[in-house]
Amino acid sequence: MRLFIFSFILFLGSVELKAQRVCSSTSQASYAPTAFSITSQNNNVPIEQVITIPVVVHVLYNSATENISEAQIISQIEALNADFAKTNKDFNKVPAVFAKLAASTNIRFELAKTNPMGQSTTGIVRKKTTRLMWSDDNKIKAEASGGSTTWDANSYLNVWVCNTVPGLTGYASFPGSAMATDGIVVRYDAFGTTGKIAFPFNKGRTLTHEVGHWLGLKHLWGDQQCGDDGIEDTPKQRGGNTGDPVFPKISPCSPNPDGEMFMNYMDFTNDASMGMFTEGQKKAMRTQFAVSGSRNSFLKSKGLAAAWNNMAPEVLPVNTRNLVVYPNPVHTSTMRLVVNTPMGVNGKNFAIIASNGQVVKTGHIQEMEQEIDVQHLSAGMYQIRLTDTESNSHTKFIKN
Ligand code: ZN
Ligand code: CA
Repeated sequence: MRLFIFSFILFLGSVELKAQRVCSSTSQASYAPTAFSITSQNNNVPIEQVITIPVVVHVLYNSATENISEAQIISQIEALNADFAKTNKDFNKVPAVFAKLAASTNIRFELAKTNPMGQSTTGIVRKKTTRLMWSDDNKIKAEASGGSTTWDANSYLNVWVCNTVPGLTGYASFPGSAMATDGIVVRYDAFGTTGKIAFPFNKGRTLTHEVGHWLGLKHLWGDQQCGDDGIEDTPKQRGGNTGDPVFPKISPCSPNPDGEMFMNYMDFTNDASMGMFTEGQKKAMRTQFAVSGSRNSFLKSKGLAAAWNNMAPEVLPVNTRNLVVYPNPVHTSTMRLVVNTPMGVNGKNFAIIASNGQVVKTGHIQEMEQEIDVQHLSAGMYQIRLTDTESNSHTKFIKN
């Protein structure tokens, strides 16, 4: 998904230059937007239906400066919504030839109201860290590696805000990525429109760009010289444009008189030079919410519903009490496993271990409560445990 070494060289190479957007989200070679390969789109969400995505913002700070204010976070959500709704105040700067292709996506974002445990939340998690800066290695996405663990990525857009290594403004995971690392990382001073923000990434567009990736959009040039993003209404582009280009920017790759669409959110230009997604990009993003799409689960998210669990909104330790098997003893061919952790369960794995230490069954955890087939287990005592490194939850059960 991401070319670690290449992107590292890229952004280290740009450190001494003027501030330049560096997003290290590089789509997998096999990944391609599907909007135009689907001829029958009758399982798509109707284009007029507004889709609202619950967002959790994990603020990882070392210095007080990095512990950005709630006002800064809210300003980012507002900017994101304006960009996705084409209500951005600077839309009038988009040249008419491109403005006519611009879309209001009918995709919205709100800070989560309820956490994966069903408890009331502000949608903001704050955590002090000893780490001075973070690279694009996903370590920020797990408690075990010093980060803040991903909330159920089937229901929440996880956004981590932190001090990134010099030059890196952000990175995102594409649809279909591993649940445990699904989400977006943004540098704290490139986040929001007020507070600790730094020119030229002071209009919240780093997140707009990264959410584009998170919903399957590629960079306009498809990360290749004169490449393509698979979207029909965005012109081919020589590479990433930076700074504040002057319209029209003609290149050998887009020899039309209108040139390259450097004001598109999926370019690398300064925040002030961006201002639109196209209708084609809108269709591609919304395809992710179709029944067969990678983001379809968001239509059923409870992240914006009223809290249903009145326990204090605190992070419970992951321990045996949070892993429950019933009925116990198991006298049926299936049993129910309940995994009750504050960070959600998706993407975790379990193993059932017999009393002789032999692993007799393994599987993926898909939901907080799921059915496990134990028909083939002989009578006896078993241990079931989560096998991921960040948790050592386990409990015992008896099969009759
Ligand atoms: Zn990018
Ligand atoms: Ca294109």
